[in-house]
Amino acid sequence: MRLNILNGAQGASNIKKLVAVAAGKGGVGKSTVSAALARCSALRGLKVGVLDADVYGPSMPLLFPADQAPNVLDQRIQPALSGNIKVVSISHFGLVEKATAFRAPVVNMFLQQCIHKVDWGDLDILYVDFPPGVGDVHLCLLQEWAFSGVVLVSLANRLSKSDVEKAASSFVDMGVPVLCVLENMAHVEAPHQFIEPLFGKVDLKSLVENTNAALYKKIPFDPKLASLFDSSENPFMQSKLSPAAEAFLSFEEELLKLLDNSLLPQVYTQTLEWQT
Ligand code: ADP
Repeated sequence: MRLNILNGAQGASNIKKLVAVAAGKGGVGKSTVSAALARCSALRGLKVGVLDADVYGPSMPLLFPADQAPNVLDQRIQPALSGNIKVVSISHFGLVEKATAFRAPVVNMFLQQCIHKVDWGDLDILYVDFPPGVGDVHLCLLQEWAFSGVVLVSLANRLSKSDVEKAASSFVDMGVPVLCVLENMAHVEAPHQFIEPLFGKVDLKSLVENTNAALYKKIPFDPKLASLFDSSENPFMQSKLSPAAEAFLSFEEELLKLLDNSLLPQVYTQTLEWQT
């Protein structure tokens, strides 16, 4: 059965756009990308949720410290609130402190709860951070939910590209459009200086072509971004934005345009009359 939550089939939840963030490989920045996209969308006033489906390495509770803990109301899970972003993670189920190795039934229970029992309310966009690899979690989510599209995150090296290719085919086979191949921690040419790329220089264009990706974008390697996320600070609320934060803001805007122009609030194009 394929449950279309976009039509609010689960009663209380009405989610306009459902975006998967996947890589097939760990450590390429998939959680960082999910968190950054969520923060950018929230900043422009959208109603945003994040589902941390990376059950074996959940990061979202660290990236989004809860101002309000999740709870259960009328037999439905109310997500944690971090600012105005709704977050659900396996960590919230109180299991992570005790054990990091989950047997399949625990993972399955968590997923079923996420799919059928979370009250997301009205959301403009829900970002789903997929686990590495193509396993049960991956297949279950793809079978039960109709995704608007997927962002595939890769480094510019063969190891990462080959894992992303495998993950990509599972989305393509299920008819999920590839919104973007996102090269993360990308090399940036420094003027008058040769610096060897840190994470490889493999061309990802064939991945873009083979998956019919609508966009091919790069987020630069940016130590400042990593340390801001590490300290739970919002990288998009700094007086001077880091290069990666700038790149994320413009990428997220393109992504929203691709998904639906109506998600971009008018406030961004309004002129401020009192200034004239
Ligand atoms: P994944 O979810 O794929 O396992 P993470 O999002 O946890 O990867 O990122 C792995 C590490 O790389 C983290 O320390 C994160 O801060 C860092 N990182 C991610 N993207 C960037 C970037 N563009 N520049 C610098 N560091 C990054």
